[in-house]
Amino acid sequence: MRSSLVFSDATSRSLHEVLQASPFVERAAFLLCTEVRTDRSCKLIVKQVVPVRPGDYLRQHAAGMSLASAAYTSVAKIARDTGSSIIFVHSHPSGALYFSDQDDREEPKLIEFFKARVPGRTHGALVVCDGCVVGRIYTPEAADLDVIAEWGAHWKVHAGASVGKQDVFDRSIRAIGRDGQALLRQLVIGVVGAGGTGSAIAQMLARLGVGTLRLFDEDKLEDSNVPRVLGAAMSQVGQAKVRVLEEHLRSIGLGTIVEAVEGSICRQDVAAMLRDCDVIFSCVDKEMPRSILMAHHRHYLTPVIDLGVKIEASQQSIKEVWGRITTMTPGSPCLFCRGRISAEGLRLEAMRLDERSAQIRQGYAPELDEPAPAVVAYTSAVASMAAAEFLARLFLPGARKSLGDESLMRLDLGTVRSNSGTMRANCICANDESFAAGDISPHLGLSWG
Ligand SMILES: [Zn+2]
Ligand SMILES: [Zn+2]
Repeated sequence: MRSSLVFSDATSRSLHEVLQASPFVERAAFLLCTEVRTDRSCKLIVKQVVPVRPGDYLRQHAAGMSLASAAYTSVAKIARDTGSSIIFVHSHPSGALYFSDQDDREEPKLIEFFKARVPGRTHGALVVCDGCVVGRIYTPEAADLDVIAEWGAHWKVHAGASVGKQDVFDRSIRAIGRDGQALLRQLVIGVVGAGGTGSAIAQMLARLGVGTLRLFDEDKLEDSNVPRVLGAAMSQVGQAKVRVLEEHLRSIGLGTIVEAVEGSICRQDVAAMLRDCDVIFSCVDKEMPRSILMAHHRHYLTPVIDLGVKIEASQQSIKEVWGRITTMTPGSPCLFCRGRISAEGLRLEAMRLDERSAQIRQGYAPELDEPAPAVVAYTSAVASMAAAEFLARLFLPGARKSLGDESLMRLDLGTVRSNSGTMRANCICANDESFAAGDISPHLGLSWG
């Protein structure tokens, strides 16, 4: 079972503040987490950091500490009331990079205690030392966490298990390092939409050496798609787009596991399959799937990189070409805040064709759009920029500091600018209840058709 622990940068910051308050002796805290279980993964999303109260430290030095039992009973009570998993965290100021022998002896007793007080939840432990973090959960045997991720303006991702030699990636390793390459191998990345941008992103992620790609699209390949869908051939017209892409990615032979999901994420069962993903690329051209991905991001904190391409043309002549990459990560404004999608747009999109025709006649809806112009050079360019954004978030945190979460490109002019956007106070993304809520019923709190 694959396991991951997910922080927002706010919860990560508050944990580090607690642990660094006395940097020369061990300190401890508890994480209360929302648990998300699928048939193949267990994801714990940190909701709250509970520091150990000063009076509950019985003994504290550089390589050891003991806590009063009240520390454990009080956190177990909160976890039980909120249905949370508990992760016990302590620091190793001595610099020891892994759990000590004493940790190995004491921890199972603590986990048994948590399991008795908060049954049906997965509990675990984390050790933090200078710039390094390792963790394990009990399911029920102890197993190291595969991925520990902090999502926010900066992404910090620690991958537990190491991977074998990856000489084929020698040229990438020279840029992102062996650890970086190994990290890519540990990631599960969702690509929603297997058209022009989606096929290009998926191909780049496979060539980067990403471990698992999960592709979502309900459409069949049409002949008018072939000029933009990378890896597609005219002989495949009529096949499911995700199957065409899956076949192409497998043929690359770089070891990426490809999972094709032939279905729309506007269906509840398909949307639920996004839950295993660490990062999601949104390569769709409609507002409804974008709004579902935003809701998914809020509930599971999974970063979503949304791509848009727009060619302004009239009378078969290009006027302007726009590319957009918007990264949704904890603390960033959503697509509603940014005006990229709207309630009105969703309303029009949800209308049946006959309803919409009636509304057009009555003047309540704009004319139906012709198929939008689309050109492979522009879809692929935006996909490349999105892949570069993903690499920058993971491996160049310093470079992201001054930039916002959205890049706008004028592909006809060759210019790029970034913006931070503004979070609107009354927006759906300001609703704290859905933040890190995980699985709720109905899924994502939405009404599904
Ligand atoms: Zn320890
Ligand atoms: Zn918003």
